[in-house]
Amino acid sequence: MSLSLGGMRARLWIATALPALLVIVMLVIGFAYRYGDRMADALTDRGVASARQLGSAAEFMVFAGDREGLGRLAEAAIRNDAQLHAVAVYDAHGQLLASAGKLEGQPSLGAALDVQLGDRLRVELPIYPTIAPTDDLYTPTPSAGIAYGQGARLVGHAVLEVSLDRLAQQQRELLLWSLVTAAGGLVLAGGLATLLASRVTAQITAINDVVTRVGQGALDERIDGVRSGVLASLAEGINAMIGRIAATQEELQFRVEQATRELRHQKEAAEQAARTDTLTGTATRLAFTEVAEVEMQRALRYRNDLSLLMLDLDHFKGINDEHGHVTGDAVLVHFAQVVQQQIRNMDLLARLGGEEFVVLLPNVNAEQAAVLAERIRGAVSESRLMANGRPLRFSVSIGVAQFDWRELSLTRWMSRADAALYRAKEQGRNCVVREGGSPALGAQ
Ligand code: GH3
Ligand code: MG
Ligand code: MG
Repeated sequence: MSLSLGGMRARLWIATALPALLVIVMLVIGFAYRYGDRMADALTDRGVASARQLGSAAEFMVFAGDREGLGRLAEAAIRNDAQLHAVAVYDAHGQLLASAGKLEGQPSLGAALDVQLGDRLRVELPIYPTIAPTDDLYTPTPSAGIAYGQGARLVGHAVLEVSLDRLAQQQRELLLWSLVTAAGGLVLAGGLATLLASRVTAQITAINDVVTRVGQGALDERIDGVRSGVLASLAEGINAMIGRIAATQEELQFRVEQATRELRHQKEAAEQAARTDTLTGTATRLAFTEVAEVEMQRALRYRNDLSLLMLDLDHFKGINDEHGHVTGDAVLVHFAQVVQQQIRNMDLLARLGGEEFVVLLPNVNAEQAAVLAERIRGAVSESRLMANGRPLRFSVSIGVAQFDWRELSLTRWMSRADAALYRAKEQGRNCVVREGGSPALGAQ
């Protein structure tokens, strides 16, 4: 990314600086040429003006053949103008009357004003007589002793040469000034372009950094400090986008948590349901097995007594057949309530299936368990359930077995209780039998 940012900075710099550089260069070149030309024109104008002045001043001296006066005039002209290189005055026949300085080459001495701009500026001015207004009332008044044209009689020639050193120096100065100005402009434009390019790339870097961090999951990041034009609205758009992503993620997280909570509740409810018998509200075989395993471990560790009652309603099929299945269900519910009333909170009553129940008795030996079983048996046989307006009696047979520390098997322990129950059934039902023994307490 840093490479491409560098490339972008260079392109931005070129795009910003190049037009400015071109404009500066064109302006400076155009200005230098134009101004250079104007300087040459101004010098020419000045040369011609000097020649006219000289011609005007020399007219009468030429006419009078005053070579000495002309000599002084030429000397004075050169003295008064540092750029004036040479001055010469000729009569009408091309005879040199006076000069100061040295002319380069022979003058052509034509009848019309001749200006040549080469290594030097040479002006050749033909001198015509100024006409005195008193001589001819109809002749127009001359201005500054200027020649009247082809018709007038030629008096002489004024020739002067102007050095171009000063002009060349001025042009050099102009060129130097132009170069300095251009260089200044270039430095300024380049500096501004650099500033602009680095400002833009710095802002793009800031945007890029935030986008990268957001990509890594930092959704609380926002782009700050980008304020220029398109980039500002880009940053604003990205910030809004991050905001929406954060809000969506938050909502999603909330929903996931909610769904997880619901699932956990459902799972707990299902687990609870699996441990509670729907008809009687007692524990199920599953719940009994779990609790029994824990109690077996505890009894083993602390050498506690632990006993089991296996209960089976007598002739329950007959109750169903005689009173119907619904009454049979009511008998089961009623039976569970009666048993529950006889046992302690720490004891556990569970329905193993059908009309078969079990009671787990922690800290109780077989003898005590048989006593409790007998109490249960008595309470059941004495209880009445109203069915179709008539009191319904029923009884239960109970097998008793104590947990054996050497055995360590719930199945075998239950089998022993079951065997005792079987014997209770054999012995006529409505009685309690302790494992390995005869009816524990007076059953019948
Ligand atoms: P025994 O004295 O030898 O135990 O005879 P019994 O009739 O109680 O035993 P048996 O196993 O022959 O019959 C049990 C009956 O219990 C059979 C079945 O229809 C009934 N039963 C099982 N589960 C339910 C139940 O949830 N509700 C009702 N109403 N009856 C059930
Ligand atoms: Mg049974
Ligand atoms: Mg039964």
